[in-house]
Amino acid sequence: MNRRATLLIMSSDLDPFIRSLACSLGADYYGVADLGPARDFILGQGGERIARYPRAISIGMRMQDDLVDLVPDGDAETAIIYRHNGYEVVNQILDQVAFRVAQELQGRGHHAFPVPASRRTDDTEIRSVFSHKLAAHRAGLGWIGKSCLLVTPDHGPRARWVSVLTDAPLVVTGAPMEPRCGNCTACVDICPKGAFTDRIFDPEEPREARFDAAACDRYFREMELEKGVAVCGLCLYACPYGRRQGVSGLEKR
Ligand code: SF4
Ligand code: SF4
Repeated sequence: MNRRATLLIMSSDLDPFIRSLACSLGADYYGVADLGPARDFILGQGGERIARYPRAISIGMRMQDDLVDLVPDGDAETAIIYRHNGYEVVNQILDQVAFRVAQELQGRGHHAFPVPASRRTDDTEIRSVFSHKLAAHRAGLGWIGKSCLLVTPDHGPRARWVSVLTDAPLVVTGAPMEPRCGNCTACVDICPKGAFTDRIFDPEEPREARFDAAACDRYFREMELEKGVAVCGLCLYACPYGRRQGVSGLEKR
């Protein structure tokens, strides 16, 4: 978009414009999160350079069901295909959407910082500088499941996420959704490394209370050494939210 066209977009049109841009580039989920209440957590994870932004745009892209449903096959060919389309392709698209959104915001005089879709920056803590799940949760797009994945009401955890941190005066789209896992233990039961503790998400508890990220990480390293490609995703596959046979035995909306 050229400078003249940019200036024609008044600030009151910013929300629909940015949402429309993200969706036109392929986003299936879009929301704006107020990061204020989570500032201490964000500061501890990414430092002041990340915590200085008051809002985050959360952008999600639905995964291909036919791809996710191959996960239990577990053979090398499936792993290569899943790795490519389920991680690399979708993450590249998300990064491009986030970059374009950030560029548009910057062009209007706002600060904007696209956080890479899937880029670990801390091997000790096994995390990035910012949690995309936190942004999506605070934007009202889903809840944090026992799997520590962001679970959407319609497609469960079958989505990948990216975030754009910003000071642009965008309207917050929702509030954090309460967990709807109920008595389900599908992700807990299927994890080959027993990485989940069957605890409902509580923002006051550290991730370690629910998830042994190091156990999952070791599993991926083992697979890389043994097969040359590391893929799991069984916790994502097993969640009854998003599976095509529908939700059964769980709390419904
Ligand atoms: S990706 Fe696999 S090993 Fe890691 S937590 Fe999920 S089910 Fe467990
Ligand atoms: S599989 Fe069940 S317990 Fe795990 S996140 Fe999904 S609904 Fe929650």
